[in-house]
Amino acid sequence: MGERRQAGYNFTRNRQVNTQGVKHASVVGTDDALCYSANELLKHPGVPKSISVGVTLEDLSCLDVSVLPSERIDIDIEFVARGHTVLVTGVISTQWHGSCRRCLADVGGDLSLEISEMYQKNPEDELIYPIANGMIDLEPMVRDAIVTELPLTPLCSPDCRGICPDCGADLNEEKCSCNPSVDPRWKALDNLKTERYYFV
Ligand SMILES: [Zn+2]
Ligand SMILES: [Zn+2]
Repeated sequence: MGERRQAGYNFTRNRQVNTQGVKHASVVGTDDALCYSANELLKHPGVPKSISVGVTLEDLSCLDVSVLPSERIDIDIEFVARGHTVLVTGVISTQWHGSCRRCLADVGGDLSLEISEMYQKNPEDELIYPIANGMIDLEPMVRDAIVTELPLTPLCSPDCRGICPDCGADLNEEKCSCNPSVDPRWKALDNLKTERYYFV
């Protein structure tokens, strides 16, 4: 009797879920690890339930920027029911990988997203995720949140000089002779302008 939880319910988890924070190194599976029962939440409106889980997901990319299938995605969220709606708020964090838009060097970075989403049975609004068969499936929401936040034009550095479109030289490493700024014909024009300026 003394062990009875104050919240009045046990949160149903499918499969193995890490509730001990991020120290647990093993990464759980995909699909089912992100499914949670909505019924207990809806029976106890206003009683929050937190989860902390790490997963991997395949096919998570936008253009050539992606979260690798081996990359851990940490999901730290809280569920709370209000009426017929389950609110899901918290943080999703992982790492993205891609190539610099200008020089094609490997680049990557942290992604940390604050999310605030709603789940309902038979939602009429397309921005609300469905509760199907009494279950909240976090995977579509996690995918949407990550894909919309992946950088579209990753750069190795804000002043990356890129690759010469003519000779292919990496202009971060070397100067090439087709660089317009050293083209002698343009240099002559510069001089002309300068002279005129001085003689006005
Ligand atoms: Zn670059
Ligand atoms: Zn060149």
